[in-house]
Amino acid sequence: MPLELTPLCGNTYYIPASTNVGVYRLNERDVCLIDSGPTESFAQSLLELMRAQGLRIRSIICTHSHPDHIGGNALIQARTGCRIFASGCEREIAENPVLQPSLFFGAYPSAPLRSAYFMVPKSHVLPLEDPQRPQMLKIIPLPGHTFNQIGVSTPDGVLFTADALAGEEMLSRFHITFLYDIAASLSTIEALASRPEKRFVPSHAPAACNLPELCRKNLSMIHEIKSSILAVLHVPCGLDELLARLFERYHTPVNLIQYTLVGHTVRSYLSYLYDQGQVEPVAQGFTLKWKLQNLQPTDPIPGNRYKPDRTAAYARRYRQKGKDGV
Ligand SMILES: [Zn+2]
Repeated sequence: MPLELTPLCGNTYYIPASTNVGVYRLNERDVCLIDSGPTESFAQSLLELMRAQGLRIRSIICTHSHPDHIGGNALIQARTGCRIFASGCEREIAENPVLQPSLFFGAYPSAPLRSAYFMVPKSHVLPLEDPQRPQMLKIIPLPGHTFNQIGVSTPDGVLFTADALAGEEMLSRFHITFLYDIAASLSTIEALASRPEKRFVPSHAPAACNLPELCRKNLSMIHEIKSSILAVLHVPCGLDELLARLFERYHTPVNLIQYTLVGHTVRSYLSYLYDQGQVEPVAQGFTLKWKLQNLQPTDPIPGNRYKPDRTAAYARRYRQKGKDGV
């Protein structure tokens, strides 16, 4: 489908797409983009659209470093010489693209995770604090989905909310949407519900969305996922077993990509629940499992197969074997 420059208010426009791109008109000719879209072919179409409108891209502000938001950076920068700005770790990742799949997977990523879907070409990125950034665009910190995600508020009362909120279609399709820090996400979503702007543009939902309603749906989905995890952990459970139960419950296709992205998010939920004093890790034999805190070996919950930690007994046995020279 051809890209379209859609007016929002005053000098603020956006290009509706699988990842929406914000456009702020700095003057008659120059624009600043908010994100650059998912791929180089998208960036090519975006450049053609700008040329057809007589517009020139002078800057790009990246809301965060996920590949579907910065995939056009390198091509647009090479063709226009535009300046690109990003915050903290997001800038580091855009300049060192292998960090992104490494962070998703938690280790050296295999070839499919080093594909363009996860790892976009490197671009040269300046910090948001650089005085060359268009200063009329206000930066709103929206941490949670990633380390240092930001939103951009324009003088026309439009707030680009990046991936702080999943769109309704995404929530009903995936349920477990990508999050890095659950506590930060909850605070960010609660704060978004009372923002003063008149219009909001999430990256993966239409611009005309009802923001308080979308905030409520996102909060309710986070609480549902949290409850689903707690329900599984009535019985001590390894990470892969927990993931399998969640994949089954939410009809998620099992493949390396979903395992990587959903696995990352579920580990973040475990960190959050551990910090909240609701779950804890327990060694069973040579497996690390997760369980509800205060769940006792004799807990009479049906189906509970929890056995006390035998690690110490194993360790004693092996030390004894070592001593005996066996
Ligand atoms: Zn994202």
